[in-house]
Amino acid sequence: APRKPAAHVVLLASPGAGHVLPMAELAQLVVAHGDGAEFTATLVTNANFSSASYYSTLDSLPASISTAVLPEVSLDDLPADARVETRILTVIERTLPHLNELLSFLLDSPAGVAAFVADVFGAWALEVSAELGIPGYLTSTTNLTTLHSIVYIPELDKTTACEFRDLPEPIRLPGCVPLRGADLVDPIQDRTNPAYPLVVELARRYLLADGFIVNTFDAMEHEAIAAFDVLSHQGVYPPAYPVGPFVRTLSGSSEAADAEEDSSCLRWLDEQPDRSVLYVCFGSGGTLSTEQTAELAAGLEASGQRFLWVVRFPSDKDRMASFLGAGGRDNGHDSPISYLPEGFVERTRDTGLVVAEWAPQLEILNHRAVGGFVSHCGWNSTLEAVAAGVPMLAWPLYAEQRVNAVMLCERVGLALRPRVGTEGSDGVVPREEVAVSVTELIAGERGAAVREKARQLREAAAEAWGPEGPSRKAFEDIAGKWKKAAAARAAT
Ligand code: UDP
Repeated sequence: APRKPAAHVVLLASPGAGHVLPMAELAQLVVAHGDGAEFTATLVTNANFSSASYYSTLDSLPASISTAVLPEVSLDDLPADARVETRILTVIERTLPHLNELLSFLLDSPAGVAAFVADVFGAWALEVSAELGIPGYLTSTTNLTTLHSIVYIPELDKTTACEFRDLPEPIRLPGCVPLRGADLVDPIQDRTNPAYPLVVELARRYLLADGFIVNTFDAMEHEAIAAFDVLSHQGVYPPAYPVGPFVRTLSGSSEAADAEEDSSCLRWLDEQPDRSVLYVCFGSGGTLSTEQTAELAAGLEASGQRFLWVVRFPSDKDRMASFLGAGGRDNGHDSPISYLPEGFVERTRDTGLVVAEWAPQLEILNHRAVGGFVSHCGWNSTLEAVAAGVPMLAWPLYAEQRVNAVMLCERVGLALRPRVGTEGSDGVVPREEVAVSVTELIAGERGAAVREKARQLREAAAEAWGPEGPSRKAFEDIAGKWKKAAAARAAT
């Protein structure tokens, strides 16, 4: 008999590199399963907010992964100050009819659709898959602690009345590090913002999922995983499958550092001693204020430590200005480097290198000369640091990064955290604190503990997908369910 074509798994990524790249990694896990014979994958992205930085990744995916782009929708009717979450959720909602068409088309193909996977902002899409009778999953582009804090939002919304940052007690979710209200995800920090009810509703819809695919692993969140398991067995939440870490790896990286700029910063690293350089980068969106940029520069300079800093245009309004292509570009400066303190680049010439806007992070983190990562704690950046065994200085800026930072510093022990200035400092980390904490990370005693933890976690991360690894097992579990669902469908 002719071989049955492998069933489709359709993965919908929210706009933004931080969502598309991990979804591309997950798609690769899916098609690699069962020696490539079980599933094919279709990775769906949006034309809105698309960026060149991930199109190159999409282009280089294996042939067993197809891609589809949902058409651009107008957001002209949104107010100019609409939060990024509102924009993303609006794109998702307005493209649902197109998603419906795509899923229906694939359902009619001989292979059928085994499962649909959306990410953090895609919970609305679960209605579409459910209507078509396709098992629907959510993948969290972050960890289980963050996911748990999100599914808890509707309860928190119901049982409290004040802004979460004013809650007198930390929130103690089973198995998770205690979180202060102020540490919870950004868009729920202001009950009067139109994004607030959207996110509460989004969180409610998480419960429509048949399961959560989480980019974490046992050694990172053992207690949180065990406690969530109990709750899902009690029927409180859908089951969570910790199948991480799935991140870009050097061997699988298509975009070798071939641009001249890229290779020049790697050549610079080649000349530095082992584990001596701080890599400073705040993800694809992280943006510092003008004052904070100056304090960071002064602190790096005063520390005398070596550094490689990916400098962005500062913004005094928005900590994620770079995310959707905004930034301070419009006032006559064409390079963010021109915003650094006068003479900084010359004075630090022997110890530091500044790179404008974007650097080959994966190659950098895996370079033997890099000994620490000053990071906004975006989850991809964190997992890339884990895979490379690099300890972190946690400098959260937006989204769920404060949750990640608290977890990494207070529970996992992979990161140190600089103190923000006292009263009136408006959350700025002063230069003295920058100097002390980066030196501690590279050479201090508390730094030694996080450096050791980074080494251990790197091993554990590698083992998670080993032959008997817990993440591999969790993935096999979920793939088994998909196969069963596809077979049951084919039989009807
Ligand atoms: N990245 C990079 N070069 C840069 C900045 C970011 O390659 O200069 C990559 C980084 O390696 C990671 C992703 O962009 O894979 C950022 O994802 P993350 O979740 O850390 O942060 P987000 O951008 O979503 O805030």
